[in-house]
Amino acid sequence: MLLPTALLALIGLLHPSLAYAPLSDDTLQQLPSPGDDFDIHKGAILAPILRTRVSGTPGNAQVLQHFIDFFEKHLPHWEITLHNSTSTTPVSNGKEIAFVNFIATRDPPGSKVGEVARLALAAHYDSKLTPHGFIGATDSAAPCAMILHAARSIDMALTKKWESAEGADDLELEEQRGVQILLLDGEEAFKVWTDDDSLYGARALASHWESLPHPTLSTYRTPLDSISLFMLLDLLGSSSPNVPSYFRTTHWAYKHMADLETRLRKLGAFKSSPNHPTKFAKRKAKNPKAKPRAEQPFLVDANKGNNEFYGGFVQDDHVPFMARGVEILHMIPTPFPRVWHELDDDGEHLDMDTVEDWTRLVTAFVAEWMELEGFFDFKEGKRKDEYVATGKSEL
Ligand SMILES: [Zn+2]
Repeated sequence: MLLPTALLALIGLLHPSLAYAPLSDDTLQQLPSPGDDFDIHKGAILAPILRTRVSGTPGNAQVLQHFIDFFEKHLPHWEITLHNSTSTTPVSNGKEIAFVNFIATRDPPGSKVGEVARLALAAHYDSKLTPHGFIGATDSAAPCAMILHAARSIDMALTKKWESAEGADDLELEEQRGVQILLLDGEEAFKVWTDDDSLYGARALASHWESLPHPTLSTYRTPLDSISLFMLLDLLGSSSPNVPSYFRTTHWAYKHMADLETRLRKLGAFKSSPNHPTKFAKRKAKNPKAKPRAEQPFLVDANKGNNEFYGGFVQDDHVPFMARGVEILHMIPTPFPRVWHELDDDGEHLDMDTVEDWTRLVTAFVAEWMELEGFFDFKEGKRKDEYVATGKSEL
């Protein structure tokens, strides 16, 4: 039995970026929910994003400031970078419009530039110019909020994991892994979607990073090369989403996420499930013979075969990254939500159970990717949240 074990260890060393460790049922059930922070009127995370935020306007700048404030207040270990670019648009009459991407990165302590492989979580934060007053709650205010909550939920566990490694030597033995958050500007077209009128922020960032080499002999050549997986969330927050697996090379990661969804549903931790304990109890009260209903998974392609990929995908912020070789996991439903690019894609039309379920799923996926089982302290997390919420200084 020695040989297989040794072989497995060798494979682990050769493919460190494929490391991935499941969370326990206990951890899955206890992952913090966003609660009041996702209240659409007053919630500290979501409400400030639910406003018009067209690129180059004050509303856009205020949402960007909200992200900066959130990280400065709750996540001081993350390095914040703003990536600026300008471009004319079909409606700017030759004037240059500013686009600002928000980037937050957390790498292991003492790690060197060019030696860290990062899981990137991406969503766009700008809103569409038309129809006038468009909010874009699913497009993509809610996905931005999901990512902020996921970052906050794993932050302390990351600290614990890295503190538990005995110095940099331990971390060097396994791959150095970090997390990066990309809240991108200028995704929407100002007039009609074309290659030039869309993806302003993503195109500028992918091009910039491609020409920003890490030091000679680095493991990863550029910041683009450092991205082991680019997970893009878009148009999430309406009920009953149907999200296919778009790319063969990341189908393995999609399947991990689909496994998590199945487990969360079985554990009664998926609020939109018809069998969530509260909903099932109500049906039972009406009819004692009520049976569990069939689950309708968000991730519908868990059983798709590797030879069933025909190259279809949705144009979105991943395109300039994918064109440069970055691996993409695209969480976007097909068909799009009914409210897509309509005025009623607003806070009131979000399905909050679905929003919360996506948030839990994304948080769990990041925690598994970063191998955080055993490093969560939910009691301590709660105390810290209470301290922040009440502003008490004695804690
Ligand atoms: Zn859109």
